[in-house]
Amino acid sequence: MRKYIVLLIICAGVISAGAEKKQSKSSKESIAIDYLNKSFDTYNRLQKQIWSAPELGFLEVNSSTALQNHLTANGFTVEKGVAGIPTAFVATYGSGLPVIGILAEFDALSGLSQDTVPFEKVLVPGGNGHGCGHQLLGTASIAGAVAIKKWIETTGAKGTLKVFGTPAEEGGGGKVFFAQEGFFKNVDAVLNWHPASENAVNASTSLARISILYKFHGKAAHAAANPEKGRSALDGVEAFDNMVNQLREHIVSDARIHYVITDGGGVSPNVVPAHAEVSYYVRAKSIPELFDILGRVDNAADGAALGTGTTVTKKRLAGAIYPVLPNKAFSRLIEKNLEKVGGVQWTEKEVAFANEIGKSTNTSPKEIEKVKNVTPYKESEFGKLQSGSSDVGDVSWNVPVGSFVASTFVPGSPGHSWQNVAAGGTSIGTKGAIVAAKVFALTAIDLFSNPALLIPIKEEFEKARGEGFKYAPIVPGKPELDYRKEN
Ligand SMILES: [Zn+2]
Ligand SMILES: [Zn+2]
Repeated sequence: MRKYIVLLIICAGVISAGAEKKQSKSSKESIAIDYLNKSFDTYNRLQKQIWSAPELGFLEVNSSTALQNHLTANGFTVEKGVAGIPTAFVATYGSGLPVIGILAEFDALSGLSQDTVPFEKVLVPGGNGHGCGHQLLGTASIAGAVAIKKWIETTGAKGTLKVFGTPAEEGGGGKVFFAQEGFFKNVDAVLNWHPASENAVNASTSLARISILYKFHGKAAHAAANPEKGRSALDGVEAFDNMVNQLREHIVSDARIHYVITDGGGVSPNVVPAHAEVSYYVRAKSIPELFDILGRVDNAADGAALGTGTTVTKKRLAGAIYPVLPNKAFSRLIEKNLEKVGGVQWTEKEVAFANEIGKSTNTSPKEIEKVKNVTPYKESEFGKLQSGSSDVGDVSWNVPVGSFVASTFVPGSPGHSWQNVAAGGTSIGTKGAIVAAKVFALTAIDLFSNPALLIPIKEEFEKARGEGFKYAPIVPGKPELDYRKEN
């Protein structure tokens, strides 16, 4: 009997302590959420500042500086020019364990200049544009980070928050160099988001990708007077591309091969071209599959060179990327917080703007309305393959990564489109960014307040990587800092 009473008292004690803890945690959470509710104008200005001067991969000097300055002004210690990239940075706040990271991107796309109007209107002919919303990606990540910092500061919570400012997501593979240099070694978990046209957990996987330059070398000669003395490098490229187009039928259907001729070998038909170059991407859902296809593409290049009497040199570019490794336990935690935050609420003016954009893609107002809600996360769709690639892949094999998307674009708009540049550059974009910042804040606060949440996340991560896994970049080397300079 006495035992029973003691047990009851202990239980009651646990319950009341739990209730207290819960209440104090939620009131403390409001420090971060209130900050974000009050800071719409600050982050609207910041995202517009980056949107207005869109910079390509590895050239994001002003965009990166704007984000760094905001973090410095808010008490973060910023280390810039990390991982061999002038525009990369790591910002740190707090101390001790756990260490939670947030990824921030800020590069733009070439040829996507567009005004913030609901119809196609180029601002700068041939100019860049934020068609992937990375100005929002970076802004929301640092907004979330500052909100978390306010919470750490007020509560005296233990733990370290790191913002990884990762350049050149669009083809440069900035995060690969962070991974290569060991930046994620002592990090417990990393949070990641991407602008989109819905609010949802992103538990999908992606394709590994490698970029290769094939340079063919021939012999120049007068194409009419001495054709027998010439060997056409362009013939080499054409034979190679033809062979790959035949090979394409005999690879697994979710792999991808694409190419562009980056040097056609001359301007005059009467000169046999002595040089020509073709740039390839090979994508596959696993690294072994990627290398298998790559080997066959390399063989086709050698075969084409042999047949045309040319030679070929192959350069695998650093910045090749892993497929993304999703995490169920992390996804569940993010889903809980995304549901708490909810979707975006648009004004009548914003709805009218969105519906006007929707006309260009035949998307109904009803379909567009879904941004108000959170798309429920279905565990049955965990690990679904998306046919793109992201350098988040390399991060996700070094540390557990939890990802989600928030509504910053109008549903129905294609990726990398004028529609996304237009909507992303308005308050529609900023509203989605604030949703993302809140999800970052709530999730990081969960992990800092209750580090035990990291245990199932880490266990699942280790199991998914496989025993004895050791990360190595697909193509070790230095970042191709000038890969966008000619554009
Ligand atoms: Zn993109
Ligand atoms: Zn993107």
